Amino acid sequence: MKWQDVEAKQKKVAKILTNGLKSDRLVHAYLFIGDRGTGKKDVAQLFACSYFCQNKQGIDPCGQCSECKRILSGNHPDLMVVKPDGRSIKKEQVATLIKEFTYRGVESNKKFFIIEQADELTASAANSLLKFIEEPQSQTIAILCAENRHKLLDTIISRCQLIQFAPLSPEAIESQLIEEGFAKALARTVTALTGDINEARALCGDEWFANARSSVIHFMEDLYNQSNHAIITLYEQVSLVLNDSAKAQTGLDLMVIWMRDVLNIHMDRGDAVIFSDQIETLKKQALILSVDHVAGALSIILDAKRRLDSNSQPISVIEQLALRLQEGAGSYV
Ligand SMILES: [Zn+2]
Repeated sequence: MKWQDVEAKQKKVAKILTNGLKSDRLVHAYLFIGDRGTGKKDVAQLFACSYFCQNKQGIDPCGQCSECKRILSGNHPDLMVVKPDGRSIKKEQVATLIKEFTYRGVESNKKFFIIEQADELTASAANSLLKFIEEPQSQTIAILCAENRHKLLDTIISRCQLIQFAPLSPEAIESQLIEEGFAKALARTVTALTGDINEARALCGDEWFANARSSVIHFMEDLYNQSNHAIITLYEQVSLVLNDSAKAQTGLDLMVIWMRDVLNIHMDRGDAVIFSDQIETLKKQALILSVDHVAGALSIILDAKRRLDSNSQPISVIEQLALRLQEGAGSYV
């Protein structure tokens, strides 16, 4: 990885850190704040490589010298990475770190440590670390990575230069979820629903959401292809899954996405389709549903979303929705 890769994803972060490297004005402690998946660990490693590399090109590390190689393989004697042992980072782990770092560097005076998930430091570990950060040795650099700054001691935050990582773009969230092992079509669907990587990840792992997604697919398919089945699907599947108004809102959001997908097929924009595993079904629907119908259907679904509040029965709202969509299909097709 090079600094220009960081610039492409995290422009502000790249600017602050590369300015520091170019002018050789680095602070002793940085606090990287940002969601999981925003690249904090990779940037910390790149930063360490730039700090130690013997053969830099500008500020980019060469990736080939013994310093770079040992950092990349996790074997550099003067770089320590601390991460939670179990659920937290304990006082003993910080004590080990301090002990190691009290001696001068093995090969030079340069020392570097990275604390992953610093928001998981126990209170006593955080206090020991604080004392250490308050009296930095001249060539020691610390990077603390955390998702939630509110879980950190104010005294630690005030000792660090804060580097805020921007939330991920929808494309980046999708590829992050796929990298974590979730199916592409599922990752795409949740990314269309939320811009928060943590919420997206939770939905991907939620069995209810997988059921909701497949019920909506069956329902939308039956609605136009086997209209008599649609009512059975509605009672046997949809009503069981979308059984309160919050869940029904999500279900209606999925129907909106479905209809937009049909529209995208009409407009020959297959790559924008969200239900990417249903492309054949969507194509069949695009053949029987005119653009006018799809536009009408979208406004009917959005109207149902407005009518759905805590007092309404989700099932009756969706029932009326189904009738209106089928009527619409009759007059538009
Ligand atoms: Zn190098």
